[in-house]
Amino acid sequence: MTILLRGAEVASALGESILQRIGRLKAAGIFPRLAVVRTGERPDDLSYERGVKKKAETLGISVVCETLSEAAGQLQLEAVLRRLGSDPSVHGILLFRPLPEGYDEDAARALLPPEKDVDGITDLSLTGVFDGSGRGFAPCTAQACMEILRHFSIPLSGRRAVVIGRSLVVGKPLAMLLLGQNATVTLCHSKSSDLPALCQEADILIAATGKRALVDERFLSPQQTVLDVGIHVNEEGKLCGDVIPGANGLVSALTPVPGGVGAVTTTVLLSHVVQAAEALSEKV
Ligand code: NAD
Repeated sequence: MTILLRGAEVASALGESILQRIGRLKAAGIFPRLAVVRTGERPDDLSYERGVKKKAETLGISVVCETLSEAAGQLQLEAVLRRLGSDPSVHGILLFRPLPEGYDEDAARALLPPEKDVDGITDLSLTGVFDGSGRGFAPCTAQACMEILRHFSIPLSGRRAVVIGRSLVVGKPLAMLLLGQNATVTLCHSKSSDLPALCQEADILIAATGKRALVDERFLSPQQTVLDVGIHVNEEGKLCGDVIPGANGLVSALTPVPGGVGAVTTTVLLSHVVQAAEALSEKV
């Protein structure tokens, strides 16, 4: 029987601790606030923004949305980032990426003060993930995977973890976080040969490829814990992942799509906002 690792359960446990921390901050006169900066109208961004606003409302975190038209241009975007960066009432900034064509993403990224980089995109945050120092903030989806493994007490030390996908948003930082917990990590990608055999050996298999149903029976084995990061819409308009729908029953534990990793990512982002506000409160 496959245990379903439901994201809602993890998000709810994280949410409870966030609520307590927010209570302490508010008692000290600090009201956590996230700024969301969106350039253009990408449907993925709009959907994530809606999810963030809804979740933030339930937790009592305020969200300000700065929306620029696709034609606004680099200077206007940079002006918004500078203003939010120096606004003491804003504790975290989420900058939607990729930016539309013609924008300089690195220049925009560099304007984020590391202490407000709740999405983990600045050089300091990435360095913190890679050197294991914990400085800055880990990218939210990678951390969401770790929160799921922690919540369900999936042992990592000495276990074989295979991550498919090497993006800087998910695969690479996740590989480093797993390594930090003493897993033996294999990082696979589109040029890896013999992918099914590599994956079948894994105790923990994490799919973040952006390829629907790439992970089929050949990749799976009964002892495995499988985290499916992929989000796709099938022909019937239903959400599905990088793992075949029939994986339930073939592995030991599995995150569903929808209701798995995606359900935790937003809560991790908001926990970072609280962490940023706490860090500020320690300074004043
Ligand atoms: P990406 O396109 O930047 O990276 C995909 C990675 O998968 C690449 O490193 C590539 O080498 C690898 N890959 C592609 N095809 C492959 C193949 N055939 N075999 C092996 N490896 C292959 O994507 P991303 O931003 O890392 O996102 C990955 C997936 O996760 C997407 O489906 C995205 O929608 C989803 N996602 C989910 C969340 C969430 O909260 N659940 C958050 C971010 C992204």
